[in-house]
Amino acid sequence: MNRIGFIGLGNMGLPMAVNLKNQGLEVKAYDLSEEAKVKAIQSGIEVKNSIQETSTSIDTLITMLPNDSAVEQVYLNSSLLDDLAKTTLIIDSSTISPETSKRVANKASKVGISMLDAPVSGGVKGAEDGTLSFIVGGKDKDLVKASSLFDIMGSNTFHAGDSGSGQIAKLCNNMLLAIHMCGTAETIAMGVKNGLDPKVLSEIMKKSSGGNWSLEKYNPFPGVMKDAPASKNYSGGFLNLLMLKDLSLAQELASLSNSETPMGKLAKEIYEELNNQGMGDLDFSSIQKRYMN
Ligand code: NAD
Repeated sequence: MNRIGFIGLGNMGLPMAVNLKNQGLEVKAYDLSEEAKVKAIQSGIEVKNSIQETSTSIDTLITMLPNDSAVEQVYLNSSLLDDLAKTTLIIDSSTISPETSKRVANKASKVGISMLDAPVSGGVKGAEDGTLSFIVGGKDKDLVKASSLFDIMGSNTFHAGDSGSGQIAKLCNNMLLAIHMCGTAETIAMGVKNGLDPKVLSEIMKKSSGGNWSLEKYNPFPGVMKDAPASKNYSGGFLNLLMLKDLSLAQELASLSNSETPMGKLAKEIYEELNNQGMGDLDFSSIQKRYMN
């Protein structure tokens, strides 16, 4: 498992590839963007000129791509799966729809290649620090094979079920995250408008039955938590445009599975508003701004 091909060297992919290389693994990589390639070379990664060059003589192919269409382009609209050695294990860590993920896994399986969907939680900092959580769908035996790689790039690995299950669990998690972030922001705003100190109110709710991850680790109100994006003009962190992407995928999943998700639908609409107002590049806790007028 020591020879890695890595495709997609963006905000997440590059630090993941660097962590693998720093542990002595042989990593060759590719990205469409010249800028990403230059950054990767500066970080000591061996960058190839094509996906084909990146995917020969490897044990594992890891992809970290922005969306469904990029994953389709790489795996479904190319000869990659036919060209790969049958012993190659594919790990796709992009966040995409479970349907696309299953289509790739099925096509791979038809030519005798195993694939894991392994979207991540933990953001860019988690990718840099090697503390990501991998939420994996696929066969047990493949997860066992890949576990040493997950251990280098992350600190938690969960097996959600068969192919596509990693994506389903990731979308469930992010839908709940958006819902409790919106709830936390609107609640703090109401308290502040009624004369409460946001720090005092946050402390009360954190230790009471309103406690949740947004309050504990990621308070959306500026100045409450020194290191949170809210106290740094909502820069960095997990961008509104990525949250909107995940909420849109969650709504597709809800509709395909006939699941009632009124809170998820509303959270998607609220994040859509924020993105339409040009705030796509702010951290997702900037939803607080929506409630402060
Ligand atoms: P990014 O846009 O920074 O990087 C994606 C990279 O893929 C880009 O460099 C792009 O040039 C490259 N790419 C696109 N199409 C390609 C193709 N056909 N062939 C080769 N390279 C191609 O995105 P990111 O922030 O690194 O996110 C990657 C994935 O991880 C997304 O699915 C995202 O939803 C998920 N994710 C991101 C975060 C985060 O905080 N950024 C957190 C968790 C999960």
